[in-house]
Amino acid sequence: MGDYRKLWSNLNMNLEKHDVLCAVLPEIYSKVYLSQNDRPEGMNYFNFVVSEVHGLRIEELDNHKKQGGKVIGTFCVYVPDEVILAAGAIGVGLCGGSQFWIEDGEKVLPRNLCPLIKAFVGAKVSATCPYFQSCDMLVGETTCDGKKKAWEILNDYTPVHVMELPQMKREKNIEDWKMEIKEFISRIEELTGNKITFEKLKETVILCNDKRKALKRLYELRKNIPSPISGLDSLLISQIAFYDDPQRFIQKVNELCDELDERLKSLQPNGKKRILITGTPMAIPNWKMHSIIESLNAEIVVEETCTGTRYFENFVEENANDMDELIENIARRYMKVNCACFTPNAGRIEDIIKYVKEYKADGVIYYNLSFCQTYSVEYKKVEEALNKENIPVMFIETDYSEEDSGQIKTRVEAFIEMI
Ligand code: SF4
Ligand code: SF4
Repeated sequence: MGDYRKLWSNLNMNLEKHDVLCAVLPEIYSKVYLSQNDRPEGMNYFNFVVSEVHGLRIEELDNHKKQGGKVIGTFCVYVPDEVILAAGAIGVGLCGGSQFWIEDGEKVLPRNLCPLIKAFVGAKVSATCPYFQSCDMLVGETTCDGKKKAWEILNDYTPVHVMELPQMKREKNIEDWKMEIKEFISRIEELTGNKITFEKLKETVILCNDKRKALKRLYELRKNIPSPISGLDSLLISQIAFYDDPQRFIQKVNELCDELDERLKSLQPNGKKRILITGTPMAIPNWKMHSIIESLNAEIVVEETCTGTRYFENFVEENANDMDELIENIARRYMKVNCACFTPNAGRIEDIIKYVKEYKADGVIYYNLSFCQTYSVEYKKVEEALNKENIPVMFIETDYSEEDSGQIKTRVEAFIEMI
């Protein structure tokens, strides 16, 4: 990575602490990612993105800001990127996936809270994440209780706009969500000074759909036996989708898929058990479960998570006659995401069963971040439905620390032998 100290210093970062973070990441990445055998050539771009995660991309954001552009941080797949992009702003996903930030998060939050929330708050409080430091505004949402209250804490450090996400999916809730999106449009217009026109919004609806299509193409390839790409690499691509330049990302994912198409011709069965992983999101650099599972005789072929199918499934209907219709289409697409924050949430169970069949998975691992109540309560319903279909499932609750890795590995090993 080049020398970005001046840039980081201008972002008011805690440089000393940030050095500690920068020192650990390459070691973990090399152990988890670069040690994999026979990776596609197309992964070199994504290796490069990781190596420059606090460098080149931050420089790009800085250049954008110097030209008067704004940077907006988001935390949830319900926040419509289309709106941010249509105002000429750049959106970055900020969910924290590192144990590094937990300690600082716990200075202002209770310890018995989901690690994802503690990590993203810790990243801001400690001033060690250049993405947070680059943001002109953060966008929160009323999803789970922990996040809902965390916005009030973050608001002491930086402006936060909170979108009120309904918790049910009736017509009146969709109407409410449409109103929220309209309000969001006004707030973004105010911040950027740019009017979001029908033409502009339609353009970014198409752009975001193209990004979804590229990811869908990648996931379709994983349906092959064996998959032409590891679960670890696919997860990394999904994580990078949240902050990379969308045009470039689409191009690189499609180039990779072209290569994978070729690969399919010479792939031989590998005898590995095919796993569907479902549950809470895995924000970068949370690669814990994938690295444990894929160190065994198993491959992860699909993630029913927000860093997986929930991010790209369902496209926004591009045909619309006017702004109101286009916003309605956006609202309807986002309300199709099946998060455990909703009640009831039967759509998620249907999705899991559908994916098990489509991806020919041998078993399901239900991944739950500690203290995430919505997903842990929902497990019972998922387990019952999978049992009915004779699909093996196991529940794993964990955080970002490595302390329980040995224990998880033993449990997963037994599960894989059993299925
Ligand atoms: S799990 Fe729910 S709250 Fe979390 S990012 Fe996904 S949709 Fe948003
Ligand atoms: S993982 Fe669960 S507790 Fe954590 S932010 Fe997402 S919904 Fe909330």
